[in-house]
Amino acid sequence: MAIDFEIPEEAKAVREKVRAWVQDECVPAEQRLLDGEKYEDVLGELRTKAREQGLWCPFIPPEHGGMGLGPLANALVQMELGQSYLGALSLNTQGPDDATMLTLLAHGTDYQKEKFLKPLLNGEKRICYSMTEKAAGADATGMQTKAEKDGNENYILNGEKWFSSAASVADIAVIMAKTDPDAPRHQQFSTFIVELPNDGYKIKRNIKTMAVHGPLSDILGGGHAEIEIKDLKVPAENLLGGEGNGFNMGQHRLAYGRLRHGMHNVAMAQRALDMATAHVTERTTFGKKLEERQGVQFMLADCASELYIARLMLLHIAYKAEKGMDLRQENGIAKVFLANMVHKVVDTAIQLHGALGYSQDTPLAAWYTHIRSQRLVDGPDEVHRWTTGRNVIKAFKAHGTTASAAGGDLL
Ligand SMILES: Cc1cc2nc3c(=O)[nH]c(=O)nc-3n(C[C@H](O)[C@H](O)[C@H](O)COP(=O)(O)OP(=O)(O)OC[C@H]3O[C@@H](n4cnc5c(N)ncnc54)[C@H](O)[C@@H]3O)c2cc1C
Repeated sequence: MAIDFEIPEEAKAVREKVRAWVQDECVPAEQRLLDGEKYEDVLGELRTKAREQGLWCPFIPPEHGGMGLGPLANALVQMELGQSYLGALSLNTQGPDDATMLTLLAHGTDYQKEKFLKPLLNGEKRICYSMTEKAAGADATGMQTKAEKDGNENYILNGEKWFSSAASVADIAVIMAKTDPDAPRHQQFSTFIVELPNDGYKIKRNIKTMAVHGPLSDILGGGHAEIEIKDLKVPAENLLGGEGNGFNMGQHRLAYGRLRHGMHNVAMAQRALDMATAHVTERTTFGKKLEERQGVQFMLADCASELYIARLMLLHIAYKAEKGMDLRQENGIAKVFLANMVHKVVDTAIQLHGALGYSQDTPLAAWYTHIRSQRLVDGPDEVHRWTTGRNVIKAFKAHGTTASAAGGDLL
């Protein structure tokens, strides 16, 4: 009896369809944008075409207009979409919108689903998620933004946020704020839905980061905003998931987002390895093609190993998700691995391209600056490794071996 690594036919078929979609439509559309065509026109055209082909919101249930893919098929699709920066956008599955759609689906009232979720699913609106503050990030329980009832069925929010991705292009913000300072640490916070623009939610600036910004960066990614929240009035009907549940809902949201970044990383690393390999087959130094040097072959081999482990991790996690199994330990391990994996592969591709890799004549340099954030967002490496390490100790104490915390249930 062998382990069955065969991908079901329907999942293979949808992956092939999305692969062709990304290569034939999204990659050429990137060039149209660079040639100066309007973003709204190019994206609008892509989205209409995608929907006509049944490609839309991959993991959203069909009754809400999505493709209804399970974790495995979605992972395969996301691993293709990451090859183009228009991939996820063209199927309306870009972050941070996608994970917030899931939160609204799971926790929204009928009114919230009709008013806020529907236009998101239709691709008519975009949403941002404001949790992190200068005061608190990795330990989000340190947030200072407060929400107080005004006695009239409204909450009044005061505080600040920063690094709210896509806030400047969003029509809706989901904001976490402290509703009960006396409750247990993880029950002090609630989540509010706010329509933008709003005088109480003032975008002070898009924070300049180390990421290389092209002319389209702010439109596509929406930037990362610093926000002042002053006397922001939110009707009680816009409280999402009940008072005190903000923190748990945030974690639910991040659990999917963490994996999605990792899936896109596989696609980017694959493209980088392809570029590196193409380059070494063409470039000659000291009278020999680079591809003939064993040192260069070792570098390619290391990248291939990283990608192979990354794919196995994602498929194993998808398998666990399909079966409804606890995947928290694997998720934390994979989040860190996938962020570092893409870093190493893109770095190697830059190295093998020489000065060309350092230039902006290939996308590698820009990717390198963007992916540095992956070791910070959705929980920095150290916080995940802290939890993972604690689970290793717990497993040892419970079973006399650490195997169950180190992929041991594979065997
Ligand atoms: C590009 C980008 C996009 C983002 N988008 C969003 C968004 O849309 N919405 C949002 O709310 N937030 C967003 N963030 C914020 C992100 O979630 C936080 O930056 C992250 O949670 C880390 O918080 P911090 O920056 O405050 O670092 P801190 O909490 O100050 O931590 C600093 C460093 O300390 C170390 N550290 C922290 N805790 C521990 C520990 N227990 N053990 C060992 N070391 C530790 C880590 O090395 C960590 O990097 C974004 C950030 C970036 C860079």
